[in-house]
Parts: sequence; C-alpha cells; structure tokens
Amino acid sequence: MSSATRILLVDDTPENLDVLSGILEDLDCQLIVATSGERALELAARRLPDLILLDVMMPDINGFDVCTRLKGDITTTEIPIIFVTARTDDISQGFRVGGADYITKPINADEVRARVRHQLERQAMLAELKSFNRELETKVRERTSELTIANRQLREEINERRYMQDRLNYLATHDFVTRLHNRNALESFVSELLARIQVQTVNATFLMIDIDRFRLINQSCGCIAGDELLRQFADAISGLLRRDDFFARLGGDRFAVVTYCDEGDKGDALARSILAQLQEFNFQWEDRQFKLAASIATVPLTRTMVSYDQVMLAADEVIFVAKQEARGGIFSYEEAAKRSNLHKENINWASRLVDAIHNQSFRAYFQMIEYFPATRDDEAPRYRLEVLMRLWDAEHQRMISPGEFIGPAERLHLIPELDKWMLQATLSLFAQHPDLLDQIDMVSINISAFSIRETQFAQFIINSFQHFNLPPQKFCFEITETQAIVNVESARQFMQQLREFGAHFALDDFGSGFASYAYLHQMAFDKIKIDGIFVRDMDSDASHYAMVKSIVEMAASLNKEVIAEFVETEAVAQKLYALGVRWGQGYHHHRPQALNYQSLQKLLLSPVQQTT
Ligand code: C2E
Ligand code: CA
Ligand code: CA
Repeated sequence: MSSATRILLVDDTPENLDVLSGILEDLDCQLIVATSGERALELAARRLPDLILLDVMMPDINGFDVCTRLKGDITTTEIPIIFVTARTDDISQGFRVGGADYITKPINADEVRARVRHQLERQAMLAELKSFNRELETKVRERTSELTIANRQLREEINERRYMQDRLNYLATHDFVTRLHNRNALESFVSELLARIQVQTVNATFLMIDIDRFRLINQSCGCIAGDELLRQFADAISGLLRRDDFFARLGGDRFAVVTYCDEGDKGDALARSILAQLQEFNFQWEDRQFKLAASIATVPLTRTMVSYDQVMLAADEVIFVAKQEARGGIFSYEEAAKRSNLHKENINWASRLVDAIHNQSFRAYFQMIEYFPATRDDEAPRYRLEVLMRLWDAEHQRMISPGEFIGPAERLHLIPELDKWMLQATLSLFAQHPDLLDQIDMVSINISAFSIRETQFAQFIINSFQHFNLPPQKFCFEITETQAIVNVESARQFMQQLREFGAHFALDDFGSGFASYAYLHQMAFDKIKIDGIFVRDMDSDASHYAMVKSIVEMAASLNKEVIAEFVETEAVAQKLYALGVRWGQGYHHHRPQALNYQSLQKLLLSPVQQTT
C-alpha cells in the first residue's frame, strides 16, 4: 500500500470516522471522509478512491442506496465497498447490492485492518492482471500484423520466384528475337517424336527454312533491321501453321517446322504455302525495300531416322543442294515464284501512309472482349471491346491489317497521327451514340509507345475527352509491355497523368518482355493482357500453360486485372476460366469487324455465342 492509495470513509457520525481513521492511520493511505451519502457519491466520482468503507445507517441516503448508485455508474462500478454495520441482517443485503465485504460494529481494529488490507491487495492484483491482459492483447495484435505483412511478402516473393522460374524456363527454350522455340526445344521435341514414330504410325515432316539474302540486309541496314526482319518473317510463317505444328528458330537465318501431314503429303503443301506467303512479303527499312526468298528442305520423319542429329544432317544437305541447283524434293523460292502469277507490288510506305492520312483511308474495327462470370447467376452480361485499326487499300480493294502498317508508321514517325485518328474516330462514335456507351463497360484503345513520347500526347487525349464530353473511366489504353519497358520514363508519366484523369491502362502482350516484378509496381496500369502467343495453345503446350498460370498469379498479387487474348478454342477458354481469368478475347468469341453504330448495336442486342 502506498500513499497514492485512497480510501473513502463514509459515516454520519464524526466519532465513528475518527475511530476508523485512527485504525487505518498506519496503513500509509490517503484517507478521505464523507458524513453523508450525497457527499460520498460526489467524492467517489471526483476522487475515485481505491476502496470505500460505507456506513449503512445514514439519514439522507442509506448505505445500500449509495452502493447501488456507485455500482450503477461506469466510473465507480469497480471500486470495492466494505459495509460498516451493527446489524447482522444487513450483511446479506450488502452483498446483494454489490458490497465486497463487511465490518461489524462495535469496531475491532484488527478486523478492520485485515479486511481493508485484503480488499486493497485484491484490487492491486486485479489492476495488474488487467494491464497484463492489455499488454498481451497489444502484443498479439502487433504479432498478427507482423505475420500478415511477412506472409504477404512471402507470397509475393514466392510468386515472383515462380514467375522468374517460368520465365527462365521460357527463355531457355525460346528464341528472344522471334519468341519462337529455340534449338534446345526443337531437339527435345524431335527426339521425343522420333521415339514415338518407332512404335506408332505418325505422318510427320521436318522442314528447314533458310532465308536467302538475310546477310545482305543485316550488313547493309544493321542488326536492328535484321532482327525486325526475323520477327516479321516468323509472324508471317506462324499464321500458316496449325496449332500442333512446332515452329523453331535454329539461329541466324534458319528456321524449322515440324508438321503433321495429311495422308500422301510429305510437307510439300506447307512448304509451298510458306513460299507463297514469302512472295507477298516485303521488308521495308527506312526508304529501302527488300523482297525475301527462302530455300526449304523437307525431310520426312520415318522409322529410319533415329536421332535429331541425323535429321539435321539430312536437312543441311538438302539446303546445300537447294542453294546450288534448286532441284530434287526441294522447294526453292525461285521455283515457286515461277509458278506463281501473284502481283509483285512495290510498296512505298512513306507516301502511302501520308496519302492515307489525307484521304481518310483509315478504318476503325473492333473486337468484343468476353466476360466469364465467376458464378452462373453472376450479374448482368458485361461488354467490353477493343478498337483496332485498318487501312483501306482502294487500288486493290482490300483492308490492310495493322501488322503490316503500324511498324512502318512507327519507323516513319507517323504513328502519333494514326493513334490520334483512331482516338477521335472512337470518341466521336460514342459521343454521337451515348446509348451505346451506356451498355458498355469499357472501350480499349491501342497507343504506341512512340506516340506517348510526344510530351503533348496525354494532354491531347484529355482535351479530346473534354471536347466530346465523354467519361474517361469507360476507356482503357493499351500499351505493349516491351515498348513500355524501352520507354520507361515517358510511359510512366503518360500513364500517371491519364490515370489521375480517370482512364484505365493495360500492359499489352504481357509476358514476352522483361519487366521485373519490382518495376511493375511503379507503373500506373491496372490491367494485364497476356500475350496471345502463350494463350493460343495453352491447352496443349505445357510451358505456355505454366507461363499463363504464373502471369495470372503474379497479377493477382499485384492486384491487377487479367485479360487473355487469342482465345481461339473452347478448351483454352475453359483452362483460363479454371485459372480464374475473367476476361478473354479471341476468334473463339468474336472476330474483328467494322466499328459502327449498327454492328455494335446488333451485338449488344444479341450477344455473340456464350462460352463456359
Ligand atoms: P493487339 O493489340 O495485340 O491486338 C490483338 C490482335 O490480335 C488483333 O490483330 C486481333 O485481330 C488479333 N486477334 C484477336 N483475336 C485473335 C485470335 O483468337 N487469334 C489470333 N491469332 N489473333 C487474334 P490486328 O487487328 O491485326 O492488330 C494487330 C496489332 O496492331 C494489335 O495487336 C496492336 O498492337 C496494333 N494496333 C491495332 N490497332 C492499333 C491502333 O489503333 N494504334 C496502334 N498504335 N496500334 C494498333
Ligand atoms: Ca491491344
Ligand atoms: Ca495484344
């Protein structure tokens, strides 16, 4: 007990108070006295004593009533009360109203001291217990929050590691320039296939493609041009292949395709279509223009072929002969060109694009993005779409796809004009038909990283929205991941400014670039579009499936929404759904078509085929 301990003595007879004070003197407590119930209540509330000795018989308010009122008040309810009484009948009523103990009159000094000490000790222990509990609670709370943070960090680390691991696996088996499989991947694929051919009937052919004059382009225009050529070449050939064909770059200007052929075909049909495709292919670099040619060796995979090396040796030999005389089971570009009467037009992109800007030859197309609801009875259908550009070629009466003209437009610094045209075409349509926008969740517009390097580009977009009086919240801008990484600073500023304005952002073609996890944190985009190259065959290619899965997990830990493109089959849609992807885009759902009021309205009224 210390002098900080306060005891309130209540008795209407001053002599009794003197007696009690005398007894409690040597306890070294501070004593407060009250001679009426009213005064006792007031002092108790103001001084908050640690203990009250309360006389029962008092004229104004008796002790029981005082006790009842103290117990009923939240500030005084915890103070222990000892009744002081001459009547033994009072004892049980004292306990009933909340008394802690009692002292009988006539007063016995030892009894008083013993009971008071007991109450004070009990009170001190209770106080200690309470503060101990409070500390414990704080500690538990702190530990829980630390654990939550540690857990989250751990999860992010695991995700990042898995993502890096998948990416490393991807890099180990893919060619960085073209994103095709590399020599290692080809070797394991061919070896496994040869083993299968020993025991099963499989009609497959190995094609080796060697680009002619590649070195010439590489030497005269530089290796950036060379890489670009390889990419365009790979894209052009990819379009001809079936989903289960295996396409790889062997290095340099050599490529290989393993194809499962139809009965009676030894890969000739595919080789012919590759040559035909190449004949239409023009490579433009600055003001120079190149036609491509290739030699193709076809090597049927039969039981006599026992190793990958054997296949490669055979293919090398055929190419060697093909290059010298272009004869014998070999299909050279020259040979195919002689048979073909396809026109050889001379493309000059610079003037064609400038003309197109003046003549308004650009067209807006669009493709719907499908929503996979989380549950069967999930909310109303939701509609999103991406606008895509086309170039109308009046001379040949055909639409040119952006794959052909976006690259040249970027190199010729004309791309901002194209992106501005597309933005205005899109906004003006939705401004004219507000009822369309009401039914649509979001409209995505592609923006080239070359355009956003223009400092005024973000402001141009903001002005356009204000001019058409449209809500930026309903629009999303797509920037290609690789381009965003190359132009980090401009991409970051651009996204930041438009995010603050309310628009959304998606990193397009995600997965093929090298964005590190930490660096993604700094970018103000809210959606990730998984590169279609992984999605397209994720139901049959395990490494692509793993890539999609890890991107989905990483996106979840970054709290970004995921959209998958190139959803071409129901099987792929199902796989995506199982991974938790809610938005898919691809030919399975909708093929791009001209963007106008009628086409869009028709789709919104009668939604395209539902999947999953
Ligand atoms: P992207 O942004 O990745 O657009 C998706 C492309 O994939 C579109 O080709 C679309 O038609 C195609 N696609 C859609 N579903 C499937 C599918 O299931 N399988 C396959 N194999 N392809 C599918 P598109 O319209 O030829 O556009 C090619 C690229 O050109 C676009 O790729 C985008 O990067 C660029 N682009 C298109 N319009 C614009 C534009 O207005 N501005 C800029 N800067 N770039 C544009
Ligand atoms: Ca896009
Ligand atoms: Ca894309």
